[in-house]
Amino acid sequence: MVKVRLLKYTRGGVKLIAKSARVSGIPESLGDVETVRMIVENDYGSVLEHIYFTFDISEISVALSRELLEHRIASHTARSTRYNLEKGFGFVVPPPIGKHRKLKAFFLQAMRHYRRLYADFYDKMLGAGFSREEALEAARYLLPMAAHTRYVWTVNARALINFLGLRLCVRAAPEMRELAEAIRRLVVKVYPEIFKGVGCRGVNLGCCPENENRPSNCPYIGRIPTRKEVAGRAGG
Ligand SMILES: Cc1cc2nc3c(=O)[nH]c(=O)nc-3n(C[C@H](O)[C@H](O)[C@H](O)COP(=O)(O)OP(=O)(O)OC[C@H]3O[C@@H](n4cnc5c(N)ncnc54)[C@H](O)[C@@H]3O)c2cc1C
Repeated sequence: MVKVRLLKYTRGGVKLIAKSARVSGIPESLGDVETVRMIVENDYGSVLEHIYFTFDISEISVALSRELLEHRIASHTARSTRYNLEKGFGFVVPPPIGKHRKLKAFFLQAMRHYRRLYADFYDKMLGAGFSREEALEAARYLLPMAAHTRYVWTVNARALINFLGLRLCVRAAPEMRELAEAIRRLVVKVYPEIFKGVGCRGVNLGCCPENENRPSNCPYIGRIPTRKEVAGRAGG
């Protein structure tokens, strides 16, 4: 299960966003909270870039960490498999097989096998006279994508809204969605003014840009139209 802690965030963010927005002409008469709501709702995102969040993310798979790295507008620090011995590594069981007894047993057996391979290969490298560093560097190629990794991730509020929009979507991988939901819960607590109404891109935009790729299990079907449906209405 994904673990996320909010390590640090910009304090006084509502005031800071409102102050920044006023530099470019938002009237003083609009209160701080109203200004922030308007900025988020109207997607005047640049002032949201002044607010940062740093998360400690652990017990995620290497597979998930690769997807996280796709979010370029963020700062990434991942646990090194070059400098850490990963003997007995923890791993993620892909959510859909968690309840399937036979498949789960197969998966657990595979992980035990990979653990043994990793440990044996590392020991054999040392036995053959290679240094610890060389053994670690080579043995990590035997780690599976399910292996646990740890991540420190810093992201600004604008890029975080973009991340949540993409990764709260039912098309995102289940492990990624679990992470996005955990992050959303944390930031709504500290900045409800920014994040309370933030959801998948369909929620944020008022129409779903997935169009024909929208999956049948999307909870907003019938409530939020696709972008093509809206464009069709506007065109007609
Ligand atoms: C369901 C799903 C499936 C996916 N499948 C794949 C896949 O098969 N293969 C794959 O490689 N990726 C895949 N991705 C990752 C996806 O393509 C994005 O790379 C990832 O979601 C990061 O989004 P982003 O670029 O908006 O975020 P960021 O990199 O954080 O960028 C934020 C925003 O900054 C702007 N920006 C950033 N860099 C540039 C740039 N170089 N030029 C112009 N504008 C820029 C864009 O407006 C961007 O939206 C998938 C994502 C999802 C949600």
